Amino acid sequence: MTTQTLKGKIALVTGASRGIGKGIAIALSAAGAHVACIATKAENARSIVDTIQAEGGKAIALGCKVENGDAVTATFAEVEKQLGPVDILVNNAGISNPQPLLKMTEENWNSHMDINAKSVFLCSQAAIRQMKTAGNGGCVINIGSIVGQNAIPQTLSYCTSKAAVEHMTRVMAVECAKYKVRVNCIAPGYIRTEMIDQLVTDGKLAAEAIEQRTPQRRMGSVEDIAAAVLFIAGPGAGFMTGETLNIDGGWTAYGYL
Ligand code: NDP
Repeated sequence: MTTQTLKGKIALVTGASRGIGKGIAIALSAAGAHVACIATKAENARSIVDTIQAEGGKAIALGCKVENGDAVTATFAEVEKQLGPVDILVNNAGISNPQPLLKMTEENWNSHMDINAKSVFLCSQAAIRQMKTAGNGGCVINIGSIVGQNAIPQTLSYCTSKAAVEHMTRVMAVECAKYKVRVNCIAPGYIRTEMIDQLVTDGKLAAEAIEQRTPQRRMGSVEDIAAAVLFIAGPGAGFMTGETLNIDGGWTAYGYL
């Protein structure tokens, strides 16, 4: 059983209906947090809430398109009403639809920048306003990607949105330290989720080649990322802010053939 280092803290996880966000929501609950699970529609996150409640945890499911400012404002108000002001925000919701540069549409560019990057601004602003008013400090964790640092062909919009997330992390961290709010980023390597499975099915990603390119010779698990979230949100990371933690089985460090 996880030690309840986050007992009674209010956590909000975007993109909590599946994949990495689902793993993070379950881990935060096991650590004692009360968790608002956000997906595009509330019903998409309902089974995660059922899982958490079956384990004795407290969670709610809410629908919110994170790129929509009015929806974000309403969602954070609802979370505050139902659970209390947010202590921990995990900006995890994201999309990845690779397109070659010469065929890339404006819609592809806009959707990545809106859902992956603008949402981090909107949700962090809403959360940090609550943290400042409550006066207890807080923690924002942005899920970036190693492709924010490493260039991957055919993913200009995705890579750029994730690079933005990393730099937004630094700017928000230095601006909000005075409110005792820490802002950090986790940059996962390849993690086996539906997003990756879909890219493999569409022939846009070669799973075996990725495993061969990774020094640990495997893709990561959602638990690998959830463990990093618990560390950053926990009491042991109190002096850590503005930082990006790569969790990638050695992918970024590797520089050989
Ligand atoms: P999935 O595709 O499995 O899940 C995406 C989640 O984001 C779903 O919960 C989905 O909700 C939600 N979402 C998508 N669009 C919106 C939106 N407009 N508003 C609100 N929620 C939305 O992704 P992963 O779990 O694989 O990835 C999670 C995060 O981790 C992403 O930011 C991704 O870029 C990042 N990442 C993933 C890696 C990987 O290898 N898997 C590697 C590096 C980074 P719904 O069910 O309602 O559609």
